[in-house]
Amino acid sequence: MDVVLTGTGSPLPDPNRAGPSTLIKADDCHVLVDAGRGVVMRMAGAGSLPVFLRAVLITHLHSDHICDLNDVITTHWIMSQGNVALPIYGPPGTKEFVNRQIHALEADISYRIEHHEELTNGPLVEVVELAAGEQFMIGELLIRTAATEHAPVRPTLGYRIEQNEIAVALVGDTVPCEGVDELAREVDAYVQTVIRSDLVSLSPNSMMHDILDYHSDVQQAAQTAERVNAKRLVLTHMVPAPNQEQYSDWIDEAQKHFHGEIVIGEDLTTVSL
Ligand SMILES: [Zn+2]
Ligand SMILES: [Zn+2]
Repeated sequence: MDVVLTGTGSPLPDPNRAGPSTLIKADDCHVLVDAGRGVVMRMAGAGSLPVFLRAVLITHLHSDHICDLNDVITTHWIMSQGNVALPIYGPPGTKEFVNRQIHALEADISYRIEHHEELTNGPLVEVVELAAGEQFMIGELLIRTAATEHAPVRPTLGYRIEQNEIAVALVGDTVPCEGVDELAREVDAYVQTVIRSDLVSLSPNSMMHDILDYHSDVQQAAQTAERVNAKRLVLTHMVPAPNQEQYSDWIDEAQKHFHGEIVIGEDLTTVSL
């Protein structure tokens, strides 16, 4: 199984980091977790395309995690010629979000149908809203959900994806909580969106201080990884985004609390499990 970080950015625009998303490639079964800015471009860079996706899993409805879902839907439609539905899973609210996306694309959809007979079916999606504590199969992948904590964003979900003996946890934006521990227990890779609270708290922008209470900082992510005995901690969605000279500082911070492997994500970083 390959875990490809298709976007390691945050809401803050960055020329080198697409918005948050992660692609799981398990043989020819591709599953996308979240669909941030630039996701389809980065999927192409990862040797994938929306038409290869067996599912999209959404962690929560913050715009940075879903703003390019429309591109995933449209590109999937064009390339599949509307013959296959794109399965999209997410917390309650996902159905309405997807319906509204399709509604927003109505003019485009009608132009394309008028121009290409093959597209007559329109974009087909199959949205499944999930609760915490569910489990289901996508091909050979076992998917489990748990509740995460990112209030005032509610509800939010994290995912654990297993194939044979390999497991990866993709928990999205959350503070440490029971759900994250459950999903990340003994995993081969625990992918966590993180901030550096020591740096963010220095920001002169008071809105930045608001993000401190609903994200894991590096120390907390490392403590979680240690507590659940994860093999690897993969840091993504880093705020403030470090440059390469600052990576060692981030790793030092995590190593104080976690003794496994630490991966600082860049776009298209691939962790092979
Ligand atoms: Zn986010
Ligand atoms: Zn968020």
